[in-house]
Amino acid sequence: MARYNSLVDVRADLQSGAISMTELVEYYLKNIEASEALNIYVEVYAEEAREKAAQLDAKFKSNPESVGRLFGMVISHKDVICYEGHGITAASKILEGYTTPFSATAIERVLAEDAIIIGRVNCDQFAMGSTNENSVFGPVRNFADPDKVPGGSSGGSAVSVQADTCLASLGTDTGGSVRQPASFCGVLGFKPTYGRISRYGLLAYASSFDQIGTLTNSVSDAALLTEIMAGPDDFDSTVSTKAVDVLSDFEAQDKPLKIAYFKSALEHDSLDPEVKQLTQNKINALKAVGHTVEPVDFDLLDYIIPAYYVLTTAEASSNLSRFDGIRYGHRSEEAANLLETYQKSRTEGFSAEVKRRIMLGTFVLSAGYYDAYYGKAQQVRRLIQERTNEIFAEYDFIMMPASPVPAWNIGEKIDDPVATYLLDIFTVQANMVGVPAICVPVEPFQNGMPFGLQFIANRFEERKLLSFVAHFFNNI
Ligand code: GLN
Repeated sequence: MARYNSLVDVRADLQSGAISMTELVEYYLKNIEASEALNIYVEVYAEEAREKAAQLDAKFKSNPESVGRLFGMVISHKDVICYEGHGITAASKILEGYTTPFSATAIERVLAEDAIIIGRVNCDQFAMGSTNENSVFGPVRNFADPDKVPGGSSGGSAVSVQADTCLASLGTDTGGSVRQPASFCGVLGFKPTYGRISRYGLLAYASSFDQIGTLTNSVSDAALLTEIMAGPDDFDSTVSTKAVDVLSDFEAQDKPLKIAYFKSALEHDSLDPEVKQLTQNKINALKAVGHTVEPVDFDLLDYIIPAYYVLTTAEASSNLSRFDGIRYGHRSEEAANLLETYQKSRTEGFSAEVKRRIMLGTFVLSAGYYDAYYGKAQQVRRLIQERTNEIFAEYDFIMMPASPVPAWNIGEKIDDPVATYLLDIFTVQANMVGVPAICVPVEPFQNGMPFGLQFIANRFEERKLLSFVAHFFNNI
């Protein structure tokens, strides 16, 4: 069976009888086995996927009209998105052995449309990281070069699509975790507007930033999945009640648009010369077909990372307090009393990176430091929002690389967390502001590693963004 890159192609072959769901699931299960060394899956739901495939084949045979809109779509889900009756660990020891009694709204919605979930994929612990090395299951490896990191935190999601073990994956993006691994692995990573998709059933990292997003090979799959998952949900009061645009019937749009890029980004110290060159090439190509692409001032770039790491760690310190050794998962055997149960269970259960962030977050919220850190960072967030709004008053999109550097070697930056934090510089703005952003694979680096460019749009402009990207992806 040849590789499929979109549901449209899968559906055509299901329709003609060239393939069945049973055959497709077997194909993906074989690829999962063949890519075991990449450490993508935490758990493969092989038998369930086979059963569901057989049921769907029968349903389709009896009445082709009766199947859902995601019939033919085989997906993986990140180990922070709950699926009823299955384990969920956030790649952490603290949730060892825990089975979730409910499904995330996003999962319910894709299942209702006849998607098949083939397994749960590895990630950075509690979605904290940019390399997928911060996992109790060990690092995920990049399919393009197994010595390289796949990016993170949705590294397993990105590689599951890159290595053709499923058609699409559900990831999460708090500060770039869908887009940066998409860039490192050469797939499309789409983070919709904050509040577009319910966070119910997503293990929270930083609630005012977290958003479910998709990793796919095609714009059409990103559009359809987002449309199906999006919209109001009684279980998440922060989800937008705004009507969901029809995204799946977007048309590749080549009308001239105004696109901004930041001078400060293209001249940034952290920028790899090849990233700069590849970005410049695309700026030129966009101009050549009639788009206006202009540099704009954005002097807040260097404040983004400090503000993000103050705010997200503050939220994480609160969100992760529920993992106390009593309610879920791991409980220390060494504890002699209640206080020790909390202390030892958390000490044993969380990774060093998660503990670092909980402590930092607790510190910035503590009396005497709150105003200097948390309050200040909130003000910076507001400034970044205001400046971004000003740019969107004049421009359709902002473009920049998803990462200032190509994928690095596994282990290379493991001892320098701050250096790794700084590499989130281009993805975090979209989360600070809550706007949609997508990372699109363009030509690779000379060493063969993939490279993705990011386009950011104003709130709820998913349709406009996807229509443009469909034109960009295929033609520019
Ligand atoms: N790399 C960022 C961090 O470590 C982003 C994580 C994310 O988006 N979940 O916080």
